[in-house]
Amino acid sequence: MELASRLLLFNEPETLRMAKLGRELRAQGVDLVDLSLGEPDFDTPEHIKEAAKAAIDDNWSHYTPVAGYLDLREAICGKFRRDNSLEYTPDQIIVSTGAKHSLANAVLAVINKGDEVIIPTPFWVTYEALVNLAEGTVVKIPGSIDNDYKITPEQLEAAITPKTRLFMFSSPCNPSGAVYSRKELEGLAEVFRRHPNVLVISDEIYEYINYCNCMESIAQFEWMKDRTIIINGLSKGFAMTGWRLGYLAAPKEIAKACEKLQGQFTSGTNAITQRAAITALTAPLDATKAMVAEFARRRARVLELMAEVPGFRFSKPDGAFYAFPCVDHYFGKRDGDEVIENASDLAMYLLNKAHVNTVTGSAFGDPQCLRLSFANSMENIEKGFARIKEALAKLQ
Ligand code: PMP
Repeated sequence: MELASRLLLFNEPETLRMAKLGRELRAQGVDLVDLSLGEPDFDTPEHIKEAAKAAIDDNWSHYTPVAGYLDLREAICGKFRRDNSLEYTPDQIIVSTGAKHSLANAVLAVINKGDEVIIPTPFWVTYEALVNLAEGTVVKIPGSIDNDYKITPEQLEAAITPKTRLFMFSSPCNPSGAVYSRKELEGLAEVFRRHPNVLVISDEIYEYINYCNCMESIAQFEWMKDRTIIINGLSKGFAMTGWRLGYLAAPKEIAKACEKLQGQFTSGTNAITQRAAITALTAPLDATKAMVAEFARRRARVLELMAEVPGFRFSKPDGAFYAFPCVDHYFGKRDGDEVIENASDLAMYLLNKAHVNTVTGSAFGDPQCLRLSFANSMENIEKGFARIKEALAKLQ
């Protein structure tokens, strides 16, 4: 069967591929420890579930406005005011079927063939695929463990060319956990001030999940707000990955363009989820805070456990729920006939020998590293690290 050549522009996400391999091993009866998970291992808070149940009983069952219900978009404006001190109007907000969908809308709305899009590495898997799909050109700025995987204004300046149209990043970052401080963002914003044609996509989906009380948005600088597209959603902060709700805040023209795209692809997202989202975004954040406190406890333990693994080099994640150790110490080593050439080999070795599922850093543009998720119980984290240590000790 001949399919569209567009399919060759991008690959299946490695994160989903690893999850699939893990499920297959489990189905064979293997006791797998899954450290590849990209979602909170918590239930959705009760008050949000109650709001959804009420929405079903109240017959919120019809098509929704493409951009999302007006009162939800007002609630999102309220969230930006409350959490970020940012002022938006509802016509600048487009609600979608997940932050991933909002990212797709935004990239397809602003990128033309040949436009350059700067993405610092490591980056979330989907960024590169979306730019490729839009026939833009990805320009990577390599992040370094020595700088906690954050780029400098000098690196940014050097990457910008007359063709640069967009800069795309997440803070807190999946996979590195890096969180840019206000001062660091200001340094980048000063560079953008000299390049008024460059737009920014700021993916803030891990906003609440940080361990430094230091979440800042690049949109806070007054010359940045009119060219920044903020991406956010309910998946991570409210443990609602399966409910599928994301949103973006953008200059009006960009918001309108996203609405036009969405109007032909998906229309408005699920009515029940939207009603529940109003509760999520307006109620106190106690459940979110309790979840983050548990992530903080696990993070502290993961840092201790990683320090005990010979050869792992790592920076401390200030946000999200991943550790991202550099594992190049093991490259070139072997266990019998099996030679570890890179992080992908190591991830497969750990999956097959230790029955621990991780994700190779190559999925995120950094082939020296592995991503280990601590969105799993303390017991499983301890068990996973014990198995990893044992398997790595066999590599000579
Ligand atoms: N951005 C980042 C950085 C993510 O890690 C994820 C989820 N893994 C998303 C966006 C997509 O989130 P959603 O479930 O809302 O589509």
